[in-house]
Amino acid sequence: MTAFVENHTFGIQIALFLFILCFFWILESISLSQSLKDKYLHTLVNAKFLIFVIPIQIILAVILLSVSAKTVTYSFGLLYHLPIEKNGVTYYLIAFLLIDFFNFIYHYLMHKIPLGWRFHQVHHSDMDVDISTTFREHPGETFFRVTFFIITVFVLGISPWIIILFQLMESTSNLISHSKIKLPENIDRFVSLIFVTPNSHSIHHHYKLPHTDANYGDILSIWDHIFKTASRLNQKKIVYGIDTHMNPVYNANFKLLIKRPFRSKKKSPLVNGAVKNTLILIFIFSIQGFYAQKTLGNTIKDSTVIETDLNVNDFSVIIINHIKAAELSSV
Ligand SMILES: [Zn+2]
Repeated sequence: MTAFVENHTFGIQIALFLFILCFFWILESISLSQSLKDKYLHTLVNAKFLIFVIPIQIILAVILLSVSAKTVTYSFGLLYHLPIEKNGVTYYLIAFLLIDFFNFIYHYLMHKIPLGWRFHQVHHSDMDVDISTTFREHPGETFFRVTFFIITVFVLGISPWIIILFQLMESTSNLISHSKIKLPENIDRFVSLIFVTPNSHSIHHHYKLPHTDANYGDILSIWDHIFKTASRLNQKKIVYGIDTHMNPVYNANFKLLIKRPFRSKKKSPLVNGAVKNTLILIFIFSIQGFYAQKTLGNTIKDSTVIETDLNVNDFSVIIINHIKAAELSSV
């Protein structure tokens, strides 16, 4: 059973993704008075993004799993240095919390850094958010997202099994949070204290600030409550889209959406405070870099493979040298 899951990880994820997608797509069609033709055309625009997104995901997944395997081989990463029993319930719980927190940081940065927002705004450009909006992601953002996740895996030291479990939960959560099927408000008030719900995530897709810059959570909403980025808005008042790009024809044109990050000259009000937030990003990466350099030095201090001084902010160098050291020392 374990071997089967290991050998068919990608297939299982795709099958689960498609099952939930179809289930909610049909549920949305039945329960909401939208013409099937309109829903199909809207889904088709969002589905076109998968043509680029899937190959990028597959290529980067190879690097992701390779980095993950090396962290296991060398017991490398923050999780290996915590005074908790490995493979116990506490270990998995802390791993889950830390990965979800890193995803919260990633989403925050994509809103606050101008370059990130150029790509992430394509996801927000959907003016009729439904379950198909989940795969409306610019390929440039796919690259940023998976690269950030590779860094997360490297810094935390996450095993392939935890990655698989987390991504299964994440893809399920992301599909449901974009669904038009909402919870009753009185129930949502409690559920959204811990989890991202369709109600709370739809507020994140509201066209105007401050709601667009709120509710960044991936699976858990607790980070938004802790860092005061949680927001509530009556569902009837929600208007999907971005106030800087409210042309429905433009937002439904796949070719124009792909070109948008490279053409958009108009400054979004969301880039306010960009300098401050870029400094926050550099600070976070520096902390990660110092930690990685320190831990890496302890792990392979006797190795003669790495002869160059590592740049604390250059993760690519760290990762490549780490993999080279691991491979050469295992020969
Ligand atoms: Zn967003």
